[in-house]
Amino acid sequence: MVPGIHRPAVVRVNLSAIKQNIENEVNHLDPDQKLFAVVKANAYGHGAIQVAKVAEEAGASGFCVAILDEALELRENGVVKPILVLGVVSPEYAPVAAANGISLTVPNLEWLHMAQEALERENLQLKIHLGIDSGMGRIGFSEDDEFIEANKFLENNPNFFVEGMFAHFASADSSDDTYFKHQVEKFKHMKSLLTVKPKWIHVDNTAASIFDKDVHSDLVRFGIGIYGLNPSSNPSSPDLKSNVELKPALSFVSELTHVKTIHKGDGVGYGSTYVADDDVIIGTVPVGYADGWIRKFQGFKVKVGDVYCPIVGRVCMDQFMVLMPKEMPVGTRVTLISDNPDDPNNIKAAADYVDTIHYEVACLLSDRLPRVYYYDE
Ligand SMILES: *Cc1c(COP(=O)(O)O)cnc(C)c1O
Repeated sequence: MVPGIHRPAVVRVNLSAIKQNIENEVNHLDPDQKLFAVVKANAYGHGAIQVAKVAEEAGASGFCVAILDEALELRENGVVKPILVLGVVSPEYAPVAAANGISLTVPNLEWLHMAQEALERENLQLKIHLGIDSGMGRIGFSEDDEFIEANKFLENNPNFFVEGMFAHFASADSSDDTYFKHQVEKFKHMKSLLTVKPKWIHVDNTAASIFDKDVHSDLVRFGIGIYGLNPSSNPSSPDLKSNVELKPALSFVSELTHVKTIHKGDGVGYGSTYVADDDVIIGTVPVGYADGWIRKFQGFKVKVGDVYCPIVGRVCMDQFMVLMPKEMPVGTRVTLISDNPDDPNNIKAAADYVDTIHYEVACLLSDRLPRVYYYDE
């Protein structure tokens, strides 16, 4: 999708905040622990290359992505540090990963056999992390026999270098630790079956680290914290308190492109879900669901100039309308998402409003929105 550089609608990304968040986390870690910056999904919508460069400056030792293409994008842009693909890559691409020094996750024994065939043909060695399903129910080994067999298969196997072993938590952001502890026990058990010696054994995501869940992890896969967001995102429970200072990096701004007065009985938007009961002032903002600003935002208050105004009528594909208490000119700034956590249109409040989590709101912001990078003065 072409970025709209001739339209006043941009995602602003504060690289000083990103740098500071990573530095704060690095300082929070034990000296022997490493930070891998999770920059999957275009760095949660913030821009993978820009975030990766800043993360390196801030002390990240490596990167995690979700798919092989994201890893290749980093390599093509000069990133030389370790990169781990967290998802399952088809074993036929094991040689591509190996040739680019990219580490892949092993989801099961069958995958290892298939990857080996491909690697043998090209006489390559692949760096791998053994995925463990300790209770996420997603990918990785969970049966003893299969894991023991995989270990045997890997001993003195020239096509693989066992760089890591890891699992992922399902509920590290919850104040109820029952399932978390169950996952820790399962992982410890799988670890006791190891006969190969991975360099890095890791389980921590942002939540496990900043809430000090105290499971030792050779590296922390730091994702949402990079972007200054507290992962504790269940709207019905209060946030767990982060032991690392986090500053949100993302804001989403636009401008009024049209302002008018409508009269009693006039409708706004598809289906006329809003009908004026008097003379009212309506402003139009050139952002819609094609930008990731979904229809559920109808009714949410965005900041127009210095006042919070509700979105009236349905959000269209490319535009939405707001009800304004006073006349304001075309060109007036509209803040859809504020990077100030105290503002009512902060990203968590926006996510709560549309019944989701801030991860999703950030990831949905589409490529049509240019990302504008800046540093604090
Ligand atoms: C996305 C992801 C992370 C990062 O999680 P955050 O909550 O953003 O810190 C870590 N590990 C795995 C396996 C992931 O998929």
